Amino acid sequence: MVTARLLVVEDDATIGAALQASLRAHDHDVTWERTGRGALRAAESGADLVLLDLGLPDLDGVEVCRKLRTFSPTTVIVILTARTEEMDVVVGLEAGADDYLTKPVRLAELHARVRAHLRRDAAASTPSPCAPVGDLVLDTAARRVRVNGHEIPLRAKEYDLLARLAVEPGAAVSRQTLMADVWDEHWFGSTKTLDVHVAGLRRRLADYAEAGVVPAIVTLRGHGYRLEVPTGT
Ligand code: CA
Repeated sequence: MVTARLLVVEDDATIGAALQASLRAHDHDVTWERTGRGALRAAESGADLVLLDLGLPDLDGVEVCRKLRTFSPTTVIVILTARTEEMDVVVGLEAGADDYLTKPVRLAELHARVRAHLRRDAAASTPSPCAPVGDLVLDTAARRVRVNGHEIPLRAKEYDLLARLAVEPGAAVSRQTLMADVWDEHWFGSTKTLDVHVAGLRRRLADYAEAGVVPAIVTLRGHGYRLEVPTGT
């Protein structure tokens, strides 16, 4: 079990208390804040992972997410939302969240997600790809990605996802394999997180299309994804 500094941001007393108690029972160091302002103050002293309710009494949760992401690029942000509308989730992920959980939160799923995000050796456990894919070069020791010397800034899970696909360029990788290798071996529930990360990764790669030959992430309907160098290049 990985012990980490967790920040729970939730104005509902019943939910907040339940999350805090359950996470403490898993030996995490937990701080509970009920407002957006309290969360931003608490996050200044550092947190490995933030569970962030989007419906807060003082500030918009999406705005809190954006601010947290700005001053703490490496903190994992998981948004909690009672709103099941797809747009809220997408807006939250665009604002810098790494993942989301829909309320009511199932505690088994919560712990699976927390464990998955805190597993720092996710990429290290997969074979290191050494060969460049097109002009894309992964420096697995430094977890950096470059195209002809231009570094592509990636979030932790975007890097892990790209590194996993780059292990076998041209090969189909199933959704189940990606979820298991990049997130958690016992993943259950929605795999929408995977699609959102693929979409984010595609945008980042597209930003560097001028810098050199950048591989594409091809969707294989009903199966998964494949990383490949576009033909004709
Ligand atoms: Ca709330």
